[in-house]
Amino acid sequence: VASERRLCTQRSEEIMRDAVNVMPGGVSSPVRAFRSVGGNPIVFESTKGSKIVDVDGNEYIDYVLSFGPSVVGSANDEVIEAVSTQARKGLSFGAPSYLENQLAHAIIDAVPSAEMVRFVSSGTEACISAARLMRAYTGREKIIKMTGCYHGHGDSFLVSAGSGVATLGLSDSPGVLKSVASATIVVPYNNIEAIREVFRKHQGEIAGVFLEPVVGNSGFIEPLPGYLAELREITKQNGALLLFDEVMTGFRISYGGAQSHFDVTPDLTTLGKVIGGGYPVGAYAGPRHIMETVAPAGPMYQAGTLSGSPVGMAAGLKTLEILRRPGTYEYLQRITQRLVEGLLDAARSNGHEACGGSLYSMFGMFFTKGPVHNFEDAKKSDTEKFKKFHRGMLEEGVYLAPSQFEAGFTSLAHTEDDIERTIEAARRVLARIPA
Ligand code: PMP
Repeated sequence: VASERRLCTQRSEEIMRDAVNVMPGGVSSPVRAFRSVGGNPIVFESTKGSKIVDVDGNEYIDYVLSFGPSVVGSANDEVIEAVSTQARKGLSFGAPSYLENQLAHAIIDAVPSAEMVRFVSSGTEACISAARLMRAYTGREKIIKMTGCYHGHGDSFLVSAGSGVATLGLSDSPGVLKSVASATIVVPYNNIEAIREVFRKHQGEIAGVFLEPVVGNSGFIEPLPGYLAELREITKQNGALLLFDEVMTGFRISYGGAQSHFDVTPDLTTLGKVIGGGYPVGAYAGPRHIMETVAPAGPMYQAGTLSGSPVGMAAGLKTLEILRRPGTYEYLQRITQRLVEGLLDAARSNGHEACGGSLYSMFGMFFTKGPVHNFEDAKKSDTEKFKKFHRGMLEEGVYLAPSQFEAGFTSLAHTEDDIERTIEAARRVLARIPA
């Protein structure tokens, strides 16, 4: 077992010194800049399976997995083969391809709420489009979202958002029209009374409720027993639509997503990450009578030059095929539970307050006693301690998401040995950090 090592990140530092001059903050997406954990961001060169290698040649066990897509392991050989075969036939048609039917069928077979699917190119686009659809279908304007949930960077969602927005301490964003932001009503996750209150106050005005059924963007937070079912009931009673944003949880929390695991079927579902197998693919899905509001079947406009990109479809199809093999979710469940149990024990046995959990291949740990039921609770975490933990783990060859407010991910490529090495690394790091 490797002991503490110093991390040489000279090349990463050189590249970031140049990057900050040509891209805002030196990155293409804010969390990558390591603002909340400090230190120079790591610049990567290659990834395979459960490992990722930086430009200085350091290898890490990867629990970020491109923020979720690589559930079968990064650069999986079968996915690469499927992508290469498709790439030789064409990168993009800007016209229908049979691959779209195939991926649509795979999604419809798996996800209970999906009868029809529209493909887009990111989770953000899926959520923006689904919000428009909610409004178009109901003829109502207001949307309820939960504090600390992230649904991409659409104007309607940059209100008390999670992920990078939470990490940077921005509760919302300049440039968002006040009239748009004011149509978003925010309530705490896991608080059913708060939702009831909003519906009482805004009778007949709520188009729908948007949420991450299991939260990943304030760290990992599970729904309380009965919460999702109650949301289903309340939205139905009020003629509002329920949307599960399963961009992160889709095909991760069971093959049919969180809705399948918790047996609560929303009206609409947004997807991304895993369904593109590492390529930019998103989707929104729902019952035929709602989805046929979308152009050209109906009047709600939404389009995309690269939507349904054949290479992305091929990567997604192969990824789902691998996930359907026997034992995959049981394996993911087992190694991830072991990981979290080991991390919590490493923290607590060294005198640190910690809580955490996992569902299949998604997990999290907070440096607070807990329980954490929403973003308000998550904010009690000791983020200074997380910062030291994150840096310590990098030095030990473990790459965790650079924020206390991001979930972690495992993949089919993570071995039991990877998990035990990670736990041992955490023990060493947490023993060095003052409790
Ligand atoms: N919804 C959820 C639940 C997400 O986790 C994310 C991204 N982390 C998004 C939407 C936005 O997806 P994208 O980054 O692909 O635009």
